[in-house]
Amino acid sequence: MSGNSVRLSAISSITSTPIVESSFDFVSSPTSSVWGKNVFSLNEMAQRLPKTIFKSLKKTITSGDPLDLSTADAVAEAMKTWAISNGATHYAHVFYPLTGLTAEKHDSFFDPDGDGGTIATFSGSALIQGEPDGSSFPNGGIRQTFEARGYTIWDVTSPAYIMENPNGTTLCIPTAFVSWTGESLDKKTPVLRSMQALNTQAQRVLKFFGTDGPTISSSAGAEQEYFLIDNHFFYARPDLLACGRTLFGSPPPKGQEFDDHYFGAIPERVQAFMFEVERECFKLGIPTKTRHNEVAPGQFEIAPVYEYANVATDHQQLVMTTLKKVATKFGMTCLMHEKPFAGVNGSGKHVNFSMGSSKAGNLFDPGETPAENAQFLVFCAAMISAVFNHAKLLRSVVASASNDHRLGANEAPPAILSIFLGDELNEIMEAIASSGSISSKQNTLSVGVDVLPPIPMHSGDRNRTSPMAFTGNRFEFRAVGSSQSIAGPMVAMNTIMAEALDEAATHLESVDTSSPEALGAAVESYVKMVWGKCNKVVFNGDGYSDEWHVEASNRGLPNLKTTADALGVLKDKSCIDLFEKYSVLSERELESRYEVYAEQYIATVNVESNLVVEIAKTMIFPAAVRYQGELASSLASLKAIGIEADHSTIDKVTGLIKSLQDYVSQLEILKEGEHQSLDVASHCLFVKNEILPKMVEVRDCVDALENLVADDLWPLPTFQEMLYIK
Ligand code: ADP
Ligand code: MG
Repeated sequence: MSGNSVRLSAISSITSTPIVESSFDFVSSPTSSVWGKNVFSLNEMAQRLPKTIFKSLKKTITSGDPLDLSTADAVAEAMKTWAISNGATHYAHVFYPLTGLTAEKHDSFFDPDGDGGTIATFSGSALIQGEPDGSSFPNGGIRQTFEARGYTIWDVTSPAYIMENPNGTTLCIPTAFVSWTGESLDKKTPVLRSMQALNTQAQRVLKFFGTDGPTISSSAGAEQEYFLIDNHFFYARPDLLACGRTLFGSPPPKGQEFDDHYFGAIPERVQAFMFEVERECFKLGIPTKTRHNEVAPGQFEIAPVYEYANVATDHQQLVMTTLKKVATKFGMTCLMHEKPFAGVNGSGKHVNFSMGSSKAGNLFDPGETPAENAQFLVFCAAMISAVFNHAKLLRSVVASASNDHRLGANEAPPAILSIFLGDELNEIMEAIASSGSISSKQNTLSVGVDVLPPIPMHSGDRNRTSPMAFTGNRFEFRAVGSSQSIAGPMVAMNTIMAEALDEAATHLESVDTSSPEALGAAVESYVKMVWGKCNKVVFNGDGYSDEWHVEASNRGLPNLKTTADALGVLKDKSCIDLFEKYSVLSERELESRYEVYAEQYIATVNVESNLVVEIAKTMIFPAAVRYQGELASSLASLKAIGIEADHSTIDKVTGLIKSLQDYVSQLEILKEGEHQSLDVASHCLFVKNEILPKMVEVRDCVDALENLVADDLWPLPTFQEMLYIK
């Protein structure tokens, strides 16, 4: 079957397929009956474990104390019994390598018993520690092959769960992945370490408000955007299959200019898919909450209720896995890439971030009493200070080849890291900084003595162009890419907040705070200090505008446009000092992360450029030449009967074919030269400055041809078809 008929038969298969049939009875099995069904939760443990064992495990979970082996043995036994009663045959240590994906190694519970039967075993040590053959996971030089061992270690704070498959189930144990020397090889370990650092510093501040004690945890709620397209199209596009994005394609005639997709009615097939995704998430105890269409046609969003940052991070990975798995069941592919279709809005992952405890409440909630307000102001100022001091770091943790296509593309925040506070909060900060007291429209108020003017929740018309926006009771980090793990952003935010709170606590510890008035004045002086130094990072205007780029540069704010510019920040002294001071990542660990991420960037673009060459040569060029032939023979036939027809189309096609060939061979030459002993940093720059622009030149020819070549000869499903045919 030639390329074009694959495309046309894809369309006819989709349009003749009936909408999905329902596969389960939602009346007889309501949400409440499936919620957390596949989670080995605290409740489940309480029922299955002897009281003393349960108590000791709970202590480990809340305090982080090491787990002793006899407790682990008892927990493993209970877990095994629970898992087998839920159909499990295997257990898997699940870990999160630096690729940002989820990895797992499965082992059977069952061993031969020596008498021709089998016996199920699962020891405490098998629960606590595994040894995957991790040598194929990227480690950025931490593990030489002679010391290639990596260990997975059970993360007691994240519950074990069961993954279902039509042919069996697997017990999944969330783990941290470390080298034999104890260095982190994964995304999870630093999340846990950074949460500890944050708690330590937050406690020092909260002492002044009498709200210290219970562990302060950061919380995260990640809004996941994604595209759904029919599998028939997906498999007809080698670029989607191998890169997750289209490397060619001109924008659809009808784009998103009518704003009719956002919050519009969700197509039936997509809704069926969403129901199933949500039910699968519920079974895993993931509190998905919101679903809606997004701005672009074919684009949707799912958001859970926020959870502790480490649990939210694991759950976010599971949400992505579930979206992909369920889409397949419905004959669709879920595209998590940040920019699957050029010219159409891309996908992000807004990570909502806050912190708190049962006693201190939500620390980014302005609160209702004078004391709560003062506490809020300290945490808010600390956040401003953190973002100001580490704007480059925040940029680097969202850097990837795919997110580069989205950031700053007039749909996502620019690469300049600024904070949006909103008018009310901005006014309060200004007032404190200028007079030491807050003079709002009606009142003059002092921190800690009177109440702040109410700070309304900005839900409707709030600023959508800011990379870090205060949204009433949390900050929303909008620069995160849709395909990324949220671990990196969480590690960065926890750690920079820990540093800022360290500074706040040191300030409060150095001044008089013996009375409420004195404490109020101390808070004021801290806020004043931060505002004076850091208010440059606050920007409440339109982050998409050209004026902002100019102004930001006048303010001296960094603007690291691409991954090639941003990744090196991980090796900056300020970054190493920060992470080492709070024992989150060592210099060696940072170095290894830099290597892995830079190599990922290079490898991603390498695969893409391979495909640009291949598709251009084997799909586009043949189609264009066939069309050229058709035009030529038609012109010749006309000429034979004395008609001199217009040559402009064949001239254009011929010109484009020539340019296409030229650009493709230039790209090939660049790629050959690419491997000449460049160091990693120079290689990244070569990719950014040479390879990517040349890929765009090839693309421009192809997209121009798409608008000329006869539709029945065009081999690749078009944007129009992929985005609108459901
Ligand atoms: P919007 O699209 O208006 O940003 P959504 O309802 O899509 O709002 O998502 C809001 C997200 O913010 C949810 O995931 C929600 O759980 C999360 N969130 C709310 N409060 C907090 C908080 N205190 N800490 C972290 N995340 C929060
Ligand atoms: Mg949203």
